[in-house]
Amino acid sequence: MNKSLKLIAISGLMIFIFLSCGRGTEKSEDNNEEGRKLQIVTTTTMLTDLLKTIGGDKVEVEGLMGEGIDPHLYIASAGDVGKLSNADLIVYGGLHLEGKMTEVFEKMKEQKKSVLNVGELLDKNQITMEDENTPDPHVWFNTELWAKEAESVANELSRIDGKNKDYYNQNLEKYKIELNKLTEYVKKRIKEIPEKSRVLVTAHDAFGYFGEQFGLEVKAIQGVSTDSETGARNIRELADFIAERNIKAIFVESSVPKKSIEALQEAVKARGKEVKIGGELYSDSLGDKEHNTETYIKTVKANADIITDALK
Ligand code: ZN
Repeated sequence: MNKSLKLIAISGLMIFIFLSCGRGTEKSEDNNEEGRKLQIVTTTTMLTDLLKTIGGDKVEVEGLMGEGIDPHLYIASAGDVGKLSNADLIVYGGLHLEGKMTEVFEKMKEQKKSVLNVGELLDKNQITMEDENTPDPHVWFNTELWAKEAESVANELSRIDGKNKDYYNQNLEKYKIELNKLTEYVKKRIKEIPEKSRVLVTAHDAFGYFGEQFGLEVKAIQGVSTDSETGARNIRELADFIAERNIKAIFVESSVPKKSIEALQEAVKARGKEVKIGGELYSDSLGDKEHNTETYIKTVKANADIITDALK
């Protein structure tokens, strides 16, 4: 290679390096721009409602999962990954709730995104384990654990947006009062059911925390994830249990197909007993405006009403 060719090659390489370095700094840090709302991306409808409640008019919240979507089976689309990459804060339930999104959250952490796993911050002693490796992720159905998650959200918002700390804490305090009222309401309603009939049978095991807090025995066809098997054996055993205990009603769930609960109803019939379908409960998703169930508080109230009216 002669001298001038070498020079051309070297300068070409320099230009290439210069251009590639420039690309990395193109994105400017504008997170602290005055008046700009924090961009938050959440997974479930429960978390979307929580972030809107605590963040109020300081935040813009986008939930990836709409109403009626099952978080256990949800797979992030390319569009979702783009939304997560552009967010100031990502909030998810954790405890394997969004089981098929784990890798995406890991990737976001690698990008040094603010990622809040609300389940991880709860006291381990308050988490029910299905087996050694499987926590029950449906913690929102215990109103006290939900208040703890609300606290984690207020803390995180205050951390990344310190100037509005008082605002977030005021919203948290107001919300806690509402949650206390909700707890009293649910307690009062469940007490209307005769003690021996306080049994909640659903498609998947989403109501363990609810049952524990409000004194209902809980049974389900599938385990804590809808990803688990729907065994014929589970249906047989549950049908025996329902027939033996003369349980009046079993419940379908808004985010799970009705099939398995209908099969259970048939199996009870085959044992010479009638069990009705008591209604559709909201398990892993909130409802909507049309049904007056678009918030967490309204949804939990609606569940308590459906359960009580069918079992009392
Ligand atoms: Zn679930």
